[in-house]
Amino acid sequence: MKRRPIIAGNWKMNLNLKEAINLAETIVKGSLDIEDRDIIIFPPFTYLYPMNHVINSSGIFLGAQNMYWEITGAFTGEISGIMLKDVGCTHVILGHSERRTIFHESDEEIANKIKTAIEIGLYPILCVGENLEQRKIGKTFEIITHQLNSSLKYMLDSKHMPPSFIIAYEPIWAIGTGHTATPDQAQEVHIFIRNWIKKEFGDKIANSVRILYGGSVKPENIKELMAEEDIDGVLVGGASLKADSFLKIIRF
Ligand code: PEP
Repeated sequence: MKRRPIIAGNWKMNLNLKEAINLAETIVKGSLDIEDRDIIIFPPFTYLYPMNHVINSSGIFLGAQNMYWEITGAFTGEISGIMLKDVGCTHVILGHSERRTIFHESDEEIANKIKTAIEIGLYPILCVGENLEQRKIGKTFEIITHQLNSSLKYMLDSKHMPPSFIIAYEPIWAIGTGHTATPDQAQEVHIFIRNWIKKEFGDKIANSVRILYGGSVKPENIKELMAEEDIDGVLVGGASLKADSFLKIIRF
């Protein structure tokens, strides 16, 4: 079954405002004729408001790299999902490995964030993935299962996963390292994730949920990754910061 591809660019903590606006403008211009795939950009929080103006009615979606699970209140330094929606966001990345490892975000926190995002009508992208050591000792599937079970706790409790849900498989050893997983390695984990969804939520949901690959995606490897049956798109870090490489990935 073919699902609508997603090409997502995670800008992380990069670019100044002028560079960010230039990048978004070039992506808009370079993708005007594209209708058969979803393009999402994830700029830093402070650029979301101006970026919403830049992408305007282009069809490109706007997303944030994180959010807090409470809606409002005394949570100094945090940003709520309602605030993200207010500045035009439709998507939010949750549980990125940099949040998990550098900022010690727990699966429980990620579960709360996923729950709130869905309740308020944002599309979360849940990131899962093993590190190099875990892969070397053969624990990849165990780690992924644990991350899915705990981050999606509330969906498991309610026995409901939205058909529009998005998961990104991002092996930590491939993020920002230049070492992409081979298409076979990625497909093996993607089918594992889809089978987990099938077991928990049924065939129909498993067939509609989109599973993205992330980890050193470049114009040179996008085509072979996208040729795999269960790779429905990509979450791109480094190569999304340059319009020409991101546009080549978009046009794979
Ligand atoms: C990411 O951080 O989500 C990512 C995949 O980064 P990169 O493409 O730079 O490996």
